[in-house]
Amino acid sequence: MTDLKNFADILEIANNKGKRIYEICQILESENTEKPVSDIRNRVKNIIAAMKSAINDGLKSEEKSTSGMCGDDCAKLVYMYKTGKSLFSTLQQKILKYALATVEQNARMGKIAACPTAGSCGIVPSVIIAVSEEIDIDEEREADALITAGLIGKIVSNKLALAGAVAGCQSECGVAAAMAAAAVVELYEGTNEQIINAAALTLKNIMGLVCDPVAGLVEIPCVKRNAFLAIYALVGAELALAGVKSIIPADEIVDAMKQVGEMMSPKLKESSEAGLATTPTGLKITSELEEKWNNQE
Ligand code: SF4
Repeated sequence: MTDLKNFADILEIANNKGKRIYEICQILESENTEKPVSDIRNRVKNIIAAMKSAINDGLKSEEKSTSGMCGDDCAKLVYMYKTGKSLFSTLQQKILKYALATVEQNARMGKIAACPTAGSCGIVPSVIIAVSEEIDIDEEREADALITAGLIGKIVSNKLALAGAVAGCQSECGVAAAMAAAAVVELYEGTNEQIINAAALTLKNIMGLVCDPVAGLVEIPCVKRNAFLAIYALVGAELALAGVKSIIPADEIVDAMKQVGEMMSPKLKESSEAGLATTPTGLKITSELEEKWNNQE
């Protein structure tokens, strides 16, 4: 995908050729890697299989992370849904469960597929797999959706490093949500414009999200943030599928995110020197963990 510099390019190429965005991506990836499209798609399907494994493992576990800060929240949802209690549809329930199952696996050092990063690993898988199950989609269409999501992440990463340490959480969970929103539009066979719009609307409304993990661990706020932003991705997809457009073009939004990332204090970029990390509770947890780790040495 190295030839795709921005969203305007991909839209123009895809529309001129009468193809869907994922088709252009896989053709270009095939050319760049000198591998057949079938190989590219098999690689994508292997990633989807890894995502499903992480969800299944996470759904079965209530084990806490080493810090003890997380690990049993997915189970709370599972128990509640068994009682029939919920504000949400089954699709939304699955998204929440799958997001927490995956990201709790990450906190337990289990195997996950970083998408685009480990800290945001719950968002894209939960959305693609829950939607696929709900509308009964096969693995070929799941692959189409994940390739579409990958394109969104790739284009953003051309201008903005996908790392909380560089541009805050807008560039991790924010980008993951945009990737998921675009994937949903692909699964519902929206147009190429709607796919890019879903990403644009999603990115635009998460801009400026800081990275302030307690004790420097990818747990608070990261775990629950994955659940929130997975549902948030549905909003981007729903609006785009209805024909709602982002007045600010997607490429300009990425430029603005980059600017905001550069203006963001280093204290809010994964250094744990501000925000939630330095709340009284955040500091108390940090000092307790430091004491625990020192005693283990
Ligand atoms: S808060 Fe920081 S560490 Fe946590 S998911 Fe977001 S970017 Fe990653």
